Amino acid sequence: MENPITKTLMYSNISGEKYDEMDKLALEVLLDYGAVTFPLDIAGLAKKIGINLIPYSSLSFQKIQKLVEKNSTYKGVTCPRRDSNGSLRFDTFYNDIDIMPLAQRFTIAHEIKHVVCGDCFKKTLTEEDEVLAEHFARSLLAPQCMVIYQNEKDRNAISKHYEISLPSAENCYNAVENRKIKFGVDFLFQFEKDFIEERNKIL
Ligand SMILES: [Zn+2]
Repeated sequence: MENPITKTLMYSNISGEKYDEMDKLALEVLLDYGAVTFPLDIAGLAKKIGINLIPYSSLSFQKIQKLVEKNSTYKGVTCPRRDSNGSLRFDTFYNDIDIMPLAQRFTIAHEIKHVVCGDCFKKTLTEEDEVLAEHFARSLLAPQCMVIYQNEKDRNAISKHYEISLPSAENCYNAVENRKIKFGVDFLFQFEKDFIEERNKIL
């Protein structure tokens, strides 16, 4: 499994604005669907978006083999389709056989990016689509503004509170610490302040 930090550095040709867009998009999705409590009910959110979650364990042996042998579908994949009423639906298949439950949450969050950005309509996804989906997943499951607002103490607290794996929590913790050094301990961007304000109205 690739280290997400290394991967981000490898594709450093992706502009900072694109990562910022992912942060904004993640908060918009959370607000739009009223999913503002953490740990995030990722299955509930997926359902509201029109995503049908299908674990690999429910598929035939042949289908599972096909999915796990390819890098691009090892963790999960999303296929759009029309239901009998003509409404757009999304089937998100996710690997629940080789992947731990916390990482499955991350896969589903990653696939949500491919749905909300329309990536899943493309024949093949670019490296940029994938890197940004990883970033989006982190922002969706554990928004940095929430980690700052709730004054999370360490990676263990973040892992527990947001139900993300320890490596993801470590990544989040380091990103927040770097932010604090750069901008100050309580600093939030305007879109993050707006999110917390709207969130507090819903709660
Ligand atoms: Zn992907």
